[in-house]
Amino acid sequence: MRKIPVALPNLGEEEAEATRRVILSGWVTQGPEVAAFESEFAAYVGASHACAVSNCTTALHLALLALGVGEGDEVITVSHSFIATANAITYCRAKPVFVDIEATGFNIDPALVEAAITPRTRAILCVHQLGMPCDLAAIVAIGRRHAVPVIEDAACAIGSEIEWEGAWQKVGRPHGDIACFSFHPRKVITTGDGGMLTTNNPQYDQKFRLWRQHGMSVPDAVRHASSQVVFEAYNEVGFNYRMTDLQAAVGRVQLGRLPGIVEARRRLAGLYGDLIGGIEGVAAPIEANWARSNWQSYCVTLAPDLDQRSVMQSMLDAGIATRRGIMNAHLETPYANAGANLPRSEAAQAHSIILPLYDRMPEADVQAVVNALEVAVEAARPILHRAAV
Ligand SMILES: *Cc1c(COP(=O)(O)O)cnc(C)c1O
Repeated sequence: MRKIPVALPNLGEEEAEATRRVILSGWVTQGPEVAAFESEFAAYVGASHACAVSNCTTALHLALLALGVGEGDEVITVSHSFIATANAITYCRAKPVFVDIEATGFNIDPALVEAAITPRTRAILCVHQLGMPCDLAAIVAIGRRHAVPVIEDAACAIGSEIEWEGAWQKVGRPHGDIACFSFHPRKVITTGDGGMLTTNNPQYDQKFRLWRQHGMSVPDAVRHASSQVVFEAYNEVGFNYRMTDLQAAVGRVQLGRLPGIVEARRRLAGLYGDLIGGIEGVAAPIEANWARSNWQSYCVTLAPDLDQRSVMQSMLDAGIATRRGIMNAHLETPYANAGANLPRSEAAQAHSIILPLYDRMPEADVQAVVNALEVAVEAARPILHRAAV
């Protein structure tokens, strides 16, 4: 039986050729390819600064540290995210303050943010979940009003856009103070693993560059290129959060593919929307008129009386891989005592399903997924509610 995977990265000869070039150059860790990837990435999203790191989790850690988040501080965020969002706050010995998601989506509900602000709030960490932009205009306005900076967890959102002051802009400009991206293979472009921080604040960017490489005062690539002997110093404790030149060379090729990838994902998501509209008990994701998702994932919500696991199992039996929707940090052991009351987040985890979507997916496979979903939903329907045949 032919199988339809849930995701498939678009990697080819060009990426293989790029890593070959780097390997034969003799310089394989952070160096000229990282610098070139950073400036190309900054130009793409429209940011003044982009700093490449080892992954998005380390990017989030550095972003929080740059804002001075530390012991006893609070950071407002969602539980309904990949657990790395909450973990980055914990790395800083700060406390994640979880607020619930919107009634009609998987992003933070801006109406709940203000009530969560206390004198200890040091940052708002909002997430563009599954590539769908969150309501940045509302969140940034609240942040400004309370002098609380905003970090965007844009792990999934490279290529997503929001309407800002009458024009479409890329997520990551950034519209908050710092945005963090991921290049894990499950995201829209990949470097194997990898991350990027964007900001318009040169002081933050300087800190990221210092801390990603052990707090080294003069980077090794600079010393290597110098005709003078240079001694570096280590004035504070940093980290090894570097991206390698092998990864960055792949990232540069991927960035070139990105516009085509996003266009294809949008076309396929549009097709899903048209086809799913007819299935009773399945709700398609909603895109606000100020948002354009990159459709990193296409996540549908099942009616509460449909069993998520059995729908997923029947689809798997038909050769179609799915994933349950986003999980909640507060339902995992490290955050079980957060005292969170998050009914919408819990309902989203229990009732949503991610369907296959990748740029090279044939349109016929979208149709096949929807057909299988329809059959699976009908089989999972409580007997009394089944359509009479
Ligand atoms: C994937 C993801 C991360 C973590 O990214 P890594 O690059 O794997 O560290 C963080 N936040 C969200 C919302 C993600 O989806």
